[in-house]
Amino acid sequence: MAENSLGKTKSMYPKEECGVFAIYGHVNSAELTYYGLYALQHRGQESAGIASFDPCQTHFQVCRGMGLVSQVFDSHSLASLQGTMAIGHVRYSTTGSSTLLNAQPIVVSCSKGELALAHNGNIVNAVSIRRELENKGSIFQTTSDSEVILHLMAQPAQEDTFSSFLNALQRVKGAFSCVLMTTKGIFAARDPLGFRPLCLGKIENSYVVSSETCAFDLIHAEYMRDIEPGEVLFIGEEGLKSYFINVQTTKKAFCIFEYVYFARPDSNIAGLNVSKARIQMGKELAKLYPVDADIVVPVPDSGNYAALGYAEQSGIPYYPAFVRNHYIGRTFIQPTQLIRDFSVRIKLNLIQEAIRGKRVIVVDDSIVRGTTARARVVNLREAGAKEVHIRVSCPPHRYPCHYGIDFPNPKSLLANQLAIEDICKYLGADSLGYLSHEALIKACLEANTEFCTACFTGRYPVDFDPDFDKMILERRSFFEHVTK
Ligand code: AMP
Repeated sequence: MAENSLGKTKSMYPKEECGVFAIYGHVNSAELTYYGLYALQHRGQESAGIASFDPCQTHFQVCRGMGLVSQVFDSHSLASLQGTMAIGHVRYSTTGSSTLLNAQPIVVSCSKGELALAHNGNIVNAVSIRRELENKGSIFQTTSDSEVILHLMAQPAQEDTFSSFLNALQRVKGAFSCVLMTTKGIFAARDPLGFRPLCLGKIENSYVVSSETCAFDLIHAEYMRDIEPGEVLFIGEEGLKSYFINVQTTKKAFCIFEYVYFARPDSNIAGLNVSKARIQMGKELAKLYPVDADIVVPVPDSGNYAALGYAEQSGIPYYPAFVRNHYIGRTFIQPTQLIRDFSVRIKLNLIQEAIRGKRVIVVDDSIVRGTTARARVVNLREAGAKEVHIRVSCPPHRYPCHYGIDFPNPKSLLANQLAIEDICKYLGADSLGYLSHEALIKACLEANTEFCTACFTGRYPVDFDPDFDKMILERRSFFEHVTK
């Protein structure tokens, strides 16, 4: 496989990981949402937005922008977000056409009044629903799958808001953890299989909803419980009401990759702390792939806890020899010939003294395209490592994700293209060991859920549109036959 074909595909696909937050009944709703989004920043760095509502006024206030939470909001924009309820969103929008139009919350005015929606996940039948609605004359504002929920709600006009939301959720398939603000209150809903996390908390007398519990810690909210798969909560004047989407399944399919990589280590999901799961993955990995070595080095930050577990289990000292620069943000400086490995070194640098002459076990959470792992092996060799053994705290990624994580075209997934021995050669390592599927499940045994492991097994818990790819809503040509 050509090196640049692996790297090149990366920018062609969107990343759909997102974070959502909501609060009802608090005078500082927008401010608390802003802090909540700060805590959820790891779930999406492309755009951020908040919509708020003050019952004394008639319209929602909205502020959305491209970039990090700290770049999108300032004291003026926060001051303009008045009201006692608010919802917020952080997103990786489509990389191909990174656009403000796709930033959320999506705010519309329709037969149900004003609505604002923030969604995490992928709706796998969004294309066919959108085609059907466009055939009936709907005009879409965005190229985001989330917008179909609002269009489904808008018609028929005589249906009440609650029924229209529930009916819309019954039509969409795939992954959705979402919050919807109306002028009467806030809905929070999770798809029937519970692919993405969503939890409920309380601050003073107000309810808060967040993708992850780490946002509650920041604002001193008390965690109450996870929102159940298939549950639709309504938070309004009369407090909290819980309903369920009418589906014939008791199966759950929480994305196990949230534990491996995506969620923050200080979050608890389904009763299991994420860092604890990662430490356990590292321990299992050490049992499966032991090797004589001098140090265990994590690839920060995603490999930190698994490396700790590996070191604990193996008795080999843990040494965080890669030093991460936390202050990069976005850089538009082009690497020059003089500094060829600029992009690699600006992010991570090695403590060479710790590495020289050592047999190193380097632990990372996952290998997707292999670009990162390959670069790390080069760094370690240049620093004088005697041996480099790669250990990965999840199984090989062989299949794309259709439910909200950016594992793109199978051709750009290294393990889809190469056998394990060839991956090891490609990475330039002395040995390579991936955690097995069984051991991964074992590491997450304390979680009170079943899992989606489709990216490792190819067994997809929800059928998806075979035409679907993550850029499909970007390609107008796909809809052309609608008008013919
Ligand atoms: P690579 O193998 O170079 O494509 O990158 C794999 C690394 O990227 C892993 O070590 C993870 O820390 C991180 N990663 C894993 N999954 C994703 C994803 N869906 N989007 C962005 N980064 C990811």
